[in-house]
Amino acid sequence: MKFEKVIQGHIVTPEGDFSGEIGINNGKILEVSDRKGMLHGEETVDFGEDFVFPGFIDAHVHCFSNPNEGIRKASSAAAKGGITSFLDMPYDLPVPISNVSVLEEKIAEVNEQAVVDIALWGTIPKENGAQVIDELAEAGVAGFKLSTFETDPYRFPRIEDADILEAMKKTAAHNLVIAFHAENDEMLTRYIEDAKKAGQKEAIHHNLTRPPVTETTAVVKLLDMASWSGAKLHIVHVSHARSIDYVEWFKQQGTNVTAETCYNYLLLTTEDLKKFGPKAKINPPLRLPEQVEALERKLLEGQIDFITSDHAPWQKADKTIGEYDIFKAKSGSPGLEIMVPLLFDHLVDQKGISPARFAELLALAPARRFRLVDKGSIETGKDADIVVIKRGAPWRIDENDFLSVSDVSPFHEHTVHNRIEATFVRGHLVYSHEGGINTQTAGRFIKPGEVNRDEDKQAALGGHVGTSK
Ligand SMILES: [Zn+2]
Repeated sequence: MKFEKVIQGHIVTPEGDFSGEIGINNGKILEVSDRKGMLHGEETVDFGEDFVFPGFIDAHVHCFSNPNEGIRKASSAAAKGGITSFLDMPYDLPVPISNVSVLEEKIAEVNEQAVVDIALWGTIPKENGAQVIDELAEAGVAGFKLSTFETDPYRFPRIEDADILEAMKKTAAHNLVIAFHAENDEMLTRYIEDAKKAGQKEAIHHNLTRPPVTETTAVVKLLDMASWSGAKLHIVHVSHARSIDYVEWFKQQGTNVTAETCYNYLLLTTEDLKKFGPKAKINPPLRLPEQVEALERKLLEGQIDFITSDHAPWQKADKTIGEYDIFKAKSGSPGLEIMVPLLFDHLVDQKGISPARFAELLALAPARRFRLVDKGSIETGKDADIVVIKRGAPWRIDENDFLSVSDVSPFHEHTVHNRIEATFVRGHLVYSHEGGINTQTAGRFIKPGEVNRDEDKQAALGGHVGTSK
C-alpha cells in the first residue's frame, strides 16, 4: 500500500513511545510502525528523534469573551501551540450559546474560519433554562457549561439549584457532560464587598476574597447533586487539592465525575499574583505555594483527569485598569499558544512523567470524556492530528507576539526549553516552526460520536478517563 503521507519520528502512543512512522491517507491514521522505512508514502516527512505526539486537545477556551479574538485568531494560536482540537466555551459576547440559531451561526463561523478542529459547549438561560438542552444536544454541542457564580447576569449567570438538578437529569439522558464553574457566589460576593469597603484593593486581595472554601463548598454540592441525578459531571479549573479529594470520594461511590485543572494553577502561585498583579488575576485565584504543591501531587498520583488552558484573550487595557484596584481587572489569561510547551518543560522534563502520560492528560482523556471518538491518540483509524515537539530548542515567550489578540501574560519573557515544530490537523500541515501558519483553513466543527454508555462511565470511574481499565 502506498500512503499519501508518512510521518517519521519518536512516536508517542497510549502504550509507550518508540522510533517509528505513521502512514496517513484521507486524513486518517492507517498504520503505525515501530520501525522507520517500512511504509511507502508519496510524501515522507522525517522529524528525526523529535517527539511525535497525538494532537493536543484543550477542553476549555473562551474565543468570544473578547470579541476582538474570534475563531480565526484563537485557532491560529492553537495551531502554533500544538493544539489540534479545542472546545469553545458558550459565554460569548454579546449573546451566549443557549439556543439553536446562535449555535448554528457559530458552527458556520467555525467551518469558515477555523485552522484547527473545534467542538462547542452550550449553556442554558438563567430562568427555567433546562428546556433548551434537548435541542442543543441534537444540534451537536459537546457538553453544557453552567456556573454557580454570577460573572454576568445574562451572558454568564449563576444557575439556581433546582434548575441545576433539572439540567443534570436532561444532560444525563443525552450522555453529555455537564460542567461547572464551581465557586460559592454568596460567600465571595460578601468578601469582595467587605474588602472594597475596607479599601483592600491590592492584587493579593483577589486571593483573600476567594479562599479555598469558596471553591470546595460549591464542588461538594455539585457532586452530591450529580450522585442523585446520574449526571456526567465535570468540574472545570480546580485550584485546590481538597476539591480533588471530594471528586475521588464520589468516584469511589460510583458518581460519574471528572475534574480538570489549568496550567496556571500548576505553574503559578500567590507570589506571582503579588508580582504580576492583574495579569495573574484568574478565577478561582492562584493559590499559596504549598497548596500548588499539593495540587501537583494529585496530578502526579493520577487523580486529575486532564489539564486545560482556560484561554481568555484579554488585552492590556483589560488588565491595566486594575493596577490600583484588582477588582476592576478582567479575570483570565491566554493559554492556547504556550500551555503545551510550558507543561512539557515542567511535567516531562522536570517532574519526569512519561510522554504517554503527558499525551493522556492533554489528548486522550479529554477526547474520551467528550466522546471525540476520532481524536486523542496515535492509533489506526483515528484522525491524523499530530504535533511534533522538539526538545532542547529554547525560546522566550513574548506577549506582544501572540497570534491570539491577547497581549498580556504572566509568562511574558519566560524561557521555554522545547518548541512546537509542526502541527497537523487530519493530515494537513497547519503550522510549522519554519513556515508559520498555513493560511488555507483546515479546521472544522466536530461533535460527540457514538460510544458504549457503560464503558464510557467506567472510564470516568477508573481513576482517570484516559485508561479504560
Ligand atoms: Zn473558563
